[in-house]
Amino acid sequence: MEKHTLVLEDLEKQYPLCFKHKGCCMYGVEIQPGWNKIIHVLLGRLEDHLAANPEKFIDCEFPFRIDQIKEKFGTLRFYVSGEVDETMWDWINYAEDQSANVCEVCAKRGVVHVSKGGFWLKTLCSECAKDEYIPYNRNMMP
Ligand SMILES: [Zn+2]
Repeated sequence: MEKHTLVLEDLEKQYPLCFKHKGCCMYGVEIQPGWNKIIHVLLGRLEDHLAANPEKFIDCEFPFRIDQIKEKFGTLRFYVSGEVDETMWDWINYAEDQSANVCEVCAKRGVVHVSKGGFWLKTLCSECAKDEYIPYNRNMMP
């Protein structure tokens, strides 16, 4: 398993069309390595799709761009704008859904946890949750 946090400059080299638009992911990629594979699979699919249809997604008035890749409320958020078709939305939704079952730290099977001290949500395996996080369920919210 990859132990490194994804670095934007590397992703730009690996998936040049995905990150062609200037200003993509201005804040970098703020996720832990457990989700690297989910993101690589998604970016690989998007890159092939863009390469097959450059006039539709790249050389157009509102080119495809990735605005942000982050974690929010415990799961992956992959924000895009510009030209995006239904197939791409399906892949993006699939990756976001998948992240709710994969530990963000180590990539083992996980569930959404909540921090004991507050309301930080994070998808974790029981090992990475240690005694700092407990499995989350909806009844916990006031
Ligand atoms: Zn873990």
